[in-house]
Amino acid sequence: MNQETQALHVGYEKNDFGTMSVPIYQTTAYDFETAEKAANLFALKELGPIYTRLNNPTTDIFETRMASVENGEAALANASGHSAILFSIINLASAGDNIIVSNKVYGGTTSLTTHTLKRFGITCKNFDSSNPEDLEDLIDENSKVILFESLSNPQIAIPNVEKIVQIAQKYNIVTICDNTVATPILFQPLNHGIDVAVHSTSKYINGQGTAIGGALIQRKDLNDKLIGNKRYPEFNEPDESYHGLIYAELPFPIYILRARLSLMRDFGAAPSPFNSWLNIQGLETLHVRMREHSRNTYKVAKFLKSHPKVKSVSYPGLEDDPQYHLVEKYFKDNMSSGLMNFEVEDFEYAKSILNSTKIFAVATNIGDSKSIITHPASTTHSQVPMDELKEAGVNPGSIRLSVGLENADDLIEDLKSALG
Ligand SMILES: *Cc1c(COP(=O)(O)O)cnc(C)c1O
Repeated sequence: MNQETQALHVGYEKNDFGTMSVPIYQTTAYDFETAEKAANLFALKELGPIYTRLNNPTTDIFETRMASVENGEAALANASGHSAILFSIINLASAGDNIIVSNKVYGGTTSLTTHTLKRFGITCKNFDSSNPEDLEDLIDENSKVILFESLSNPQIAIPNVEKIVQIAQKYNIVTICDNTVATPILFQPLNHGIDVAVHSTSKYINGQGTAIGGALIQRKDLNDKLIGNKRYPEFNEPDESYHGLIYAELPFPIYILRARLSLMRDFGAAPSPFNSWLNIQGLETLHVRMREHSRNTYKVAKFLKSHPKVKSVSYPGLEDDPQYHLVEKYFKDNMSSGLMNFEVEDFEYAKSILNSTKIFAVATNIGDSKSIITHPASTTHSQVPMDELKEAGVNPGSIRLSVGLENADDLIEDLKSALG
């Protein structure tokens, strides 16, 4: 079955009413009816809903579809993209361990990995995902994770996937790819040998900016990498918190199972069934929207490139962009998603453009069907010193767009009058 069909049908058996839309099971608990059934569920002899912090029938369908469109084995939905990233890491790393993270990732991921996790004894080393030459030197016996983004937010950088996967294979270390911006429509990390895909579903998957959510998905043969691997004792030694259960001995996708049984149980970042339902709605049209986001962004980028007051434009989907060969290599039909950056002369002029647009909203989000414009130097990056700004590729005149699904001509007209 192809991705488009999977996104619409997988995981849902219609009920007695033949309900076309997936029902929202807005419930906290489930009546097991017998003590035996309850005991079997808790002992994993039988699988089924126990309590909505652990699983829920609506969320299950969303998870099955996410696993399906990513061509993975199993998925776990989370209350937010951030908790999904946190879970993806701490499912493998504990105090005393280190993680290796790309220097081109979402700002929130940087604060989590370099500052907050350090307080819990997990240290972070950084590498350049575009040129991962030094990655090998960073790996030691306590390294548990290599984390990067397939199309990074906000730098819009595309990694050297082969090189990263090749080094990770050599050291038997798990790779995690945040696929939020590319989405499984443009790029399927697991098909390239990456072990875990992680998402903020708040963005393109939801598509309309109506629910915060996240998901992690494991590759089909990831069990083989974890079982017997000395790097990952938590999967191979008895889990005292679960009557000495050894994950490696179970006939299930153990990375996702452990994230659910241990992390979701103890940290509790469960999505609401209603938000899972909203994300199911979004996933159904993701393939159509990604094509349109990419097409619109291409047109807007072309226009800005031709404008005399625009100093530079960065959109990997443009044929003359330095990363275009990577779009051709990795992304379906040369689609390049809806994020782009451009630069104008100075700080004040950039701000005046934000104040003059009528269709573009001044908001901090991406992947919405409605277009968004941001000025990092006065908002998201206003606390960052000037030299670090330059390093992050942010200039006083840098403007970011998340191009939505309006008619591209209207968006171009809006920008044209705002540029003056
Ligand atoms: C937004 C975003 C996140 C965080 O997700 P939330 O759903 O906002 O918690 C993580 N990674 C990327 C690439 C993002 O764009």
